[in-house]
Amino acid sequence: MNAISNTKTQEFIDLEDRYGAHNYHPLPVVLERGQGIFVWDVEGKQYFDFLSAYSAVNQGHCHPKIVEALHQQSKQLTLSCRAFYSSKLGAFEAFMCNMFCFDKLLPMNTGAEAVETALKLCRKWAYEKKGISVNDAVIIFATGNFHGRTLSIISASTDPQSRGGFGPYMPNFKIVEYNNVEALKDALKDKNVAGFVVEPIQGEAGIIIPDDNYLKDCYNLCKEHNVLFIADEVQTGIARTGKMLAVYHHNIQPDILILGKAVSGGVYPVSCVLANDEIMLCIKPGEHGSTFGGNPLACAVATAAMQVVVDEKLAENAQKMGEMMRNALKKISNPLIKEVRGRGLLNAIEINDTPESETAWNLCLTFAKNGLLAKPTHGNIIRLAPPLVINENQILEAVKIIEKSINELTNSL
Ligand code: PMP
Repeated sequence: MNAISNTKTQEFIDLEDRYGAHNYHPLPVVLERGQGIFVWDVEGKQYFDFLSAYSAVNQGHCHPKIVEALHQQSKQLTLSCRAFYSSKLGAFEAFMCNMFCFDKLLPMNTGAEAVETALKLCRKWAYEKKGISVNDAVIIFATGNFHGRTLSIISASTDPQSRGGFGPYMPNFKIVEYNNVEALKDALKDKNVAGFVVEPIQGEAGIIIPDDNYLKDCYNLCKEHNVLFIADEVQTGIARTGKMLAVYHHNIQPDILILGKAVSGGVYPVSCVLANDEIMLCIKPGEHGSTFGGNPLACAVATAAMQVVVDEKLAENAQKMGEMMRNALKKISNPLIKEVRGRGLLNAIEINDTPESETAWNLCLTFAKNGLLAKPTHGNIIRLAPPLVINENQILEAVKIIEKSINELTNSL
């Protein structure tokens, strides 16, 4: 692509390659600035951001209200640590508990930490409330899941890239097929099952949307078996799918809710776990925590970021814009497109080629050349997830870029 021949861009890429661990494979674009749905590279070229930092920037880049909250709080108190109370944490906890109808919140920083927290909480509940013998608790996960990168989480992964070479793995994790209610039913015959962890839509797997009845049936099965239904909404949450939570499409209130990413609008790492007292109070002082979790800066930023989602009706906008985008994408007639799917503004194009092929990667390079950033997830699937502040004209303009790029790539094959 053109940008790579540019010295400035190449210098930044070389620097990262030389001194940074090679644990990512980025597109050759060096970003410097972001505002709303757009980002700019070091050459000054503007792009539609159709990744939104893996759905962390739902409110748009550098939202003025969130940045203002960051500025104000950063002058006052940034980190108090949980050795003391702070004037910001309680208000944030109350705000979130009221919004999502839970008794309590436990704050962490990254998505993976929040998932870890949920797993610990689930085990503690199993021993203290459900009466499972100590060290026997089993937690069920679904195939194709992505819940983060820690050792226990990758123990539940079925992706050889995430998991391979990092053993030994966490015991007592069981994996059942995603979108298969019978598989869960069968696994629940084991009396030691404490929880079932699930993404309402699998994001990293390639925007895999289960059948309409799946989540509710799983939820009901969990209820029948006194098993905690744990929703990982790190990617699907905070209005991304057209409702504040993706489980709300199915009228489900999970036992444990895991949130991250867009809770803070991409301005600062904030994640959290929500649950009712019966579960949350199983963790006692000293049994879990994090130096940065729930710090005043995080709370101020996250409260402002969540308020933006409400004030700007981002769930409604995601619902409308998502439908428009899918309709427009479905009108593109090109054999390279196998399927367009999604909910709200969590969408994907599946490319008509093998997962091992370079086609999706090359298409993303063409998108970038034409002014739009997206990235393949799982080989031949490209996620299309712009910030939720996008408007109608911008959607249509972006779809034009997508169409033009697909045609360009087809012609060059
Ligand atoms: N859960 C889900 C569903 C995710 O999509 C991700 C990140 N893509 C995570 C957890 C992990 O979040 P983090 O990268 O902030 O640790």
